[in-house]
Amino acid sequence: MSDCIFCKIVSGQIPASKVYEDESTLVFKDINPAAPVHLVAIPKEHFQTVQDIPAQKMDVMKEFFEAVAKTVAGQRLAKNGYRLVINSGEHAGQLVPHLHAHILAGRELGWPPG
Ligand code: AMP
Ligand code: ZN
Repeated sequence: MSDCIFCKIVSGQIPASKVYEDESTLVFKDINPAAPVHLVAIPKEHFQTVQDIPAQKMDVMKEFFEAVAKTVAGQRLAKNGYRLVINSGEHAGQLVPHLHAHILAGRELGWPPG
């Protein structure tokens, strides 16, 4: 997707503060953090959101969650806890139409979300 911000981060056209990268997944710092730790995990391949992943590509999500788990371990987020959020579509406030999970940590997080 040539006009997608996150695809541009994957291709290196836009810089990002990367904290984890492997063949299929990239994790970087959110540019507008909502918590002391606010990371964004993306599959390198462009899917708009969860229901847009073809069944034969679901392996990408296995690798994605493995990458999230490695990031959580690497950043030592498990002890105090963290939240993983995937906003999908308008009502959830998805601004970037490239599947991504927010990793939020470093403070108590309110529930339910607004
Ligand atoms: P969402 O509302 O779930 O689509 O969240 C998109 C997130 O991407 C927001 O938290 C933005 O702050 C973040 N974001 C947008 N552009 C960039 C960028 N160039 N680098 C890092 N984070 C970004
Ligand atoms: Zn994209």
